Amino acid sequence: MPKTKIEWTDETWNPVTGCTKVSAGCENCYAERMTKRLQKMPATREKYKHGFDTVVCHEDELARPYKWGLSIRDQCKKAGVPFFFKGWGGVRKNPDRTIDGNLYEEYPEFMINKQLEMVG
Ligand code: SF4
Repeated sequence: MPKTKIEWTDETWNPVTGCTKVSAGCENCYAERMTKRLQKMPATREKYKHGFDTVVCHEDELARPYKWGLSIRDQCKKAGVPFFFKGWGGVRKNPDRTIDGNLYEEYPEFMINKQLEMVG
């Protein structure tokens, strides 16, 4: 079920709110207008309560990409599509590159064949 009315996405992610106007290009800032609008809406009032001039990183939002990763893994599994998990990056440092204790290093068959061709 989409959480947005944007036609090309089901979800949006804004872990940081607020900004500082740094140039003439910021004069008609869309994010500032959106902040003012979202401050008035009950569902988003709390998140945007600091306004636009204060930059806030919303820690509770940082776990959402993890859930998307799990969803992508599950969708790949269901569709029989290889899933390769490269790592957590800045969200969660995890040098062993596991998800729920499992390592995912699946490659599409054409890549495996190409590698085999290269080694002879
Ligand atoms: S978000 Fe707005 S204020 Fe911040 S850099 Fe972009 S245009 Fe400028």
